[in-house]
Amino acid sequence: MDAEAIVIGSGFGGSVAALRLGQAGIKTMVLERGRWWTIDDPTTNSTFATFRDIDQRAEWLNDTGLSQTPAYEGTPIDKYVGVLEVVEHGEYKFLVGSGVGGGSHAYGGILIQPPQELWGKVFPDQVSYREMDAVYFPRVHQEIGSSLIPDDILESQYYLGLKVLVEQAAKAGFPMVKSTSNQMKDGMTKFMMGIDWDIVREEIAGKKVPSTIAAEFWFGQNSGAKQTLDQNYLKRAQETGSVEIKTLHWVQRVAALPEGGYQVFVNVIDEQGAVVEQKVLTCRSLFMAAGTLGTTGLLLKAKVKGDLPHIHEGIGQELGNDGDTFVIRSNLDETTNSHLGGPGAIVIMNYENPIYPCVMMRAPLPRFETDYPRWNAMGTFIFSMTPHRGSLTYNADTDRIDLNYDIDTQAKAAAQQLVERMTDASGGDSSPVSSTITGHQLGGAAMGQVCDTCGRVKGYSNLYVVDGALIPGSSTCVNPALTIAAVAERCLDRIIPEDLKSVASG
Ligand SMILES: Cc1cc2nc3c(=O)[nH]c(=O)nc-3n(C[C@H](O)[C@H](O)[C@H](O)COP(=O)(O)OP(=O)(O)OC[C@H]3O[C@@H](n4cnc5c(N)ncnc54)[C@H](O)[C@@H]3O)c2cc1C
Repeated sequence: MDAEAIVIGSGFGGSVAALRLGQAGIKTMVLERGRWWTIDDPTTNSTFATFRDIDQRAEWLNDTGLSQTPAYEGTPIDKYVGVLEVVEHGEYKFLVGSGVGGGSHAYGGILIQPPQELWGKVFPDQVSYREMDAVYFPRVHQEIGSSLIPDDILESQYYLGLKVLVEQAAKAGFPMVKSTSNQMKDGMTKFMMGIDWDIVREEIAGKKVPSTIAAEFWFGQNSGAKQTLDQNYLKRAQETGSVEIKTLHWVQRVAALPEGGYQVFVNVIDEQGAVVEQKVLTCRSLFMAAGTLGTTGLLLKAKVKGDLPHIHEGIGQELGNDGDTFVIRSNLDETTNSHLGGPGAIVIMNYENPIYPCVMMRAPLPRFETDYPRWNAMGTFIFSMTPHRGSLTYNADTDRIDLNYDIDTQAKAAAQQLVERMTDASGGDSSPVSSTITGHQLGGAAMGQVCDTCGRVKGYSNLYVVDGALIPGSSTCVNPALTIAAVAERCLDRIIPEDLKSVASG
């Protein structure tokens, strides 16, 4: 065997698996298709592309020559192993992170805990909220180092838009409360962010390059303020001495070995995506953590090709996106500095929405400084507790995954309700609700049919799903990263002592 355990992917699920396997003394290889993103000089924009100056580092192997990133379409771009993959499907664009640390380079640092009252509507009883709340959500915060936005930063000009949102929400009848679990009553609250606020203070003082304060997040943050997984979970995994991270290792196929264990077929690529070597690696335990689309795609292909024929027929089902929608409000009375500051930090919770419980967060609009300077605009994400689901299928003719995902009209209607409540209270105009761009894809190999509640793939031994694909199509109505990592922690807490005891030394 090349490794006792192989982990495919190094995002929120894969990083947790890598650290816990390493701490147990299990020789583990992490295979990541992307590259390391190490910040050598946090005073300049030298590591990542920026919204203001997009280049090849922004996008994952886009060979069309033109950017596919929403709002930047058409900008010339070279093919490179960049941070953000844009998967187009009909009207939809699914955004996927890549690189060591996965989606943590592209994400907004939002690490919000789902409300207790909605948890049981998505997750089976065995995944008890009480245990998640007491053990696993806090454990992830502890490893990442997340914290609430401090008042001095909230009071700065960079977060003026967030302050305006809070004031408008108060006018619309949302009281400030203590947590996201609020007995299904409307309210608003601060929540934990994976942002190092001391570095943000250095950005404000001119000692680090403006990144969080300049609304940079999709392509990475050059100041290092974002607490990405390569700096915490994966760093500690490597420090155990049992974990090796192989970059530019793009897994193409997985298969069960007749004598037990798994084969992993890998294309080793260069930074322009050309295949420089092909490898077949073997392991006793295989952890799938290539993200919802990556993991489900590999498992679907393995089932169709007969490499893993016993996978449940439900593979590919339960694809959801937390009812992810987006609205721009404009012509507000207040100055909003819409192009500054980071997303999230405070959430407006409209659990009493007549259509679905939903939440609203501010999203910065980096282009508005130049494109619409006088609009007094406010970008907002609205996520809802929608039952809407789609599916993924393997297309043998193209060797690609097809996505079947219709527009979620009810999630749009729920978002519209909330926007109208804000507009009735504070005026201004609003754009039509858009629901065709998401980075919140979940499900495909969900707990229930395909996996048990610990991520064990039914029908196989020592084959696990520990990423967004395991989550049954929704992380209630909030952003999924914290939920994915915390559920992965819960999985590894059970898998290591119960399944891997004979090889674990730690
Ligand atoms: C722009 C953007 C902003 C977001 N903001 C937030 C936020 O603020 N808060 C939040 O909660 N969520 C946010 N999300 C969603 C969040 O990032 C994802 O839900 C999360 O990253 C998913 O974790 P994961 O472990 O399932 O997969 P990922 O984090 O996507 O990791 C999967 C990894 O597997 C690698 N991979 C894929 N296929 C292969 C293969 N075949 N071989 C080898 N490696 C492979 C990928 O390169 C990637 O590194 C955002 C997403 C995007 C795109």
